[in-house]
Amino acid sequence: TKTPETFEFQAEVRQLLDLMIHSLYSNREIFLRELVSNAADAADRLRFEALQDAALFEDDPEPEVRIVVDESARTITISDNGIGMNRTDVIDNLGTIARSGTRRFLDALTGDQKQDSQLIGQFGVGFYSAFIVADSVTVHTRRAGESADAGVRWQSDGKGEFSLEASPRARRGTDVTVHLAEGQDEFLSRDRLRQVIRRYSDHIAIPIRLLDDQDEAETVNQASALWMRPKSELSDEDYQQFYQQLSFDTEPPLRWMHNKVEGDQSFTTLLFIPAQRPFDLFEPESGHGLRLYVRRVFIMEDREHRLLPRYLRFVRGVVDSDDLPLNVSRELLQHNRLIDRIRAASVKRVLDTLERLAKDDAAVYQRFWSAFGTVLKEGPIEDPGNAEKVAGLLRFHSTQDEEEQRVSLADYLERMKEGQKAIYYLTGESLAAVRNSPHLEVFRKRGVEVLLLAEPVDEWLVAHLSKYKDTPLRAVGKGELELDDLGEDTAEKPESVEPSASVKTLLERLQSELGEQVEDVRASSRLTDSPACIVVSEHDFGINMQRMLKAAGH
Ligand code: ADP
Ligand code: MG
Repeated sequence: TKTPETFEFQAEVRQLLDLMIHSLYSNREIFLRELVSNAADAADRLRFEALQDAALFEDDPEPEVRIVVDESARTITISDNGIGMNRTDVIDNLGTIARSGTRRFLDALTGDQKQDSQLIGQFGVGFYSAFIVADSVTVHTRRAGESADAGVRWQSDGKGEFSLEASPRARRGTDVTVHLAEGQDEFLSRDRLRQVIRRYSDHIAIPIRLLDDQDEAETVNQASALWMRPKSELSDEDYQQFYQQLSFDTEPPLRWMHNKVEGDQSFTTLLFIPAQRPFDLFEPESGHGLRLYVRRVFIMEDREHRLLPRYLRFVRGVVDSDDLPLNVSRELLQHNRLIDRIRAASVKRVLDTLERLAKDDAAVYQRFWSAFGTVLKEGPIEDPGNAEKVAGLLRFHSTQDEEEQRVSLADYLERMKEGQKAIYYLTGESLAAVRNSPHLEVFRKRGVEVLLLAEPVDEWLVAHLSKYKDTPLRAVGKGELELDDLGEDTAEKPESVEPSASVKTLLERLQSELGEQVEDVRASSRLTDSPACIVVSEHDFGINMQRMLKAAGH
């Protein structure tokens, strides 16, 4: 089509744009970070596709981002020679289809502008942030490998519609031209732009060039892969800034690990432990995973969790190796000795770092635990080889500490009573239900600690973690208890568990009323205040597990 065609923005996108235009102005400069990050992503995608088809480079193999300011036109243009888009790509990506993050972003808004503007990158709605400063945005793009005629121009003032027209383009890639709205002139200043780029995009691995009046280009960022630089050259601030660019997290990371393994097979890892949960931690398809590079070329995000297991999916970072083939495929990732090595080394580093953190700084560890403890509990299930190590990192509620998940299995072992042979726990639907369970009565009376487990994952955890340092874990609602020799029994001893005649009559009556529904009805010393409770036999699923299986349709 020669004449521009008009399209309406999808409803949620319209809502988003409205918000960008009218209420996200406290941190306006981030629009540049977002557009530069899209340009860098486009360069990564080109390099990746060019592994299969080198012709995509079209005699222009060096990736770069160029930023041109036109003061009289009041525009800033961010140009890249990355993958580019064709007409369908533009329609799909820029407005007619709401991306999954759009709704989520709108739902996550707090009303605090500073905080809300930080969310933009996380939810994949960065492009629209251009409208924070623009009254009109133009995108001129052409996909790598297609002819100049496949070029398209997208244009919008952000108020409900955009237009699209064919517009030939010799160079592949994308120009995004931002026409500044009234009052946004500060962004015409190169000093200001340089400052923003250094703040947010210093570690983008491709050069960002700022052009001056004479069309002389100045490279503004470091433009090197930070993880390849020696540790001794890097400051805490460098790492924190790199993390910010990688994760769009609003909090600095709690810890990072930067390691280089040399030898016949070499690799570098830079791993971060975040301080807060990303929004999609518990979604099955989520989890960005680590970013895999081969000789500095971005290959893929490890969404399938080959580089680190799922229970460590909160870890962010980069893995780079010189000894993987550049055309590494998902299949190859599944069966590769070097990948196995990288994975084992990374798991060990993360677990060791967490161990050290727990030892050195309990308060910070507690912060980590409240963000990611639930995920870490999947560890003994997914990774039996490291079950004991992970178990050492777990924290629980217990009858000695009901306020927060703070009790470690090591704490528990230390507090065990003389002669106690098991770590006792009780699972249930909620903390309140567990706390008030009659099963705890006798334990409380004897001062024997019981772990209180109320998260759904806890059932699976205890099903897979049968012991810790040779002490078995035992459910208090199951089988026979062997408490007689334990602790001080401050309660009055029941005369005998051998029931009196009247109790016997009651038991028989209950047994005949309940019939097949129960295996047995007996008198017990398990309770001190409550009249009765349900116990399951040693080898059956616990009550809570039975409830969960039923809810899941089993
Ligand atoms: P995200 O970058 O998280 O995917 P954005 O809103 O920033 O979300 O961008 C939306 C999509 O638009 C991108 O995923 C990409 O497909 C496309 N896009 C944006 N900018 C560019 C660009 N410079 N080159 C190629 N594609 C781009
Ligand atoms: Mg983006």
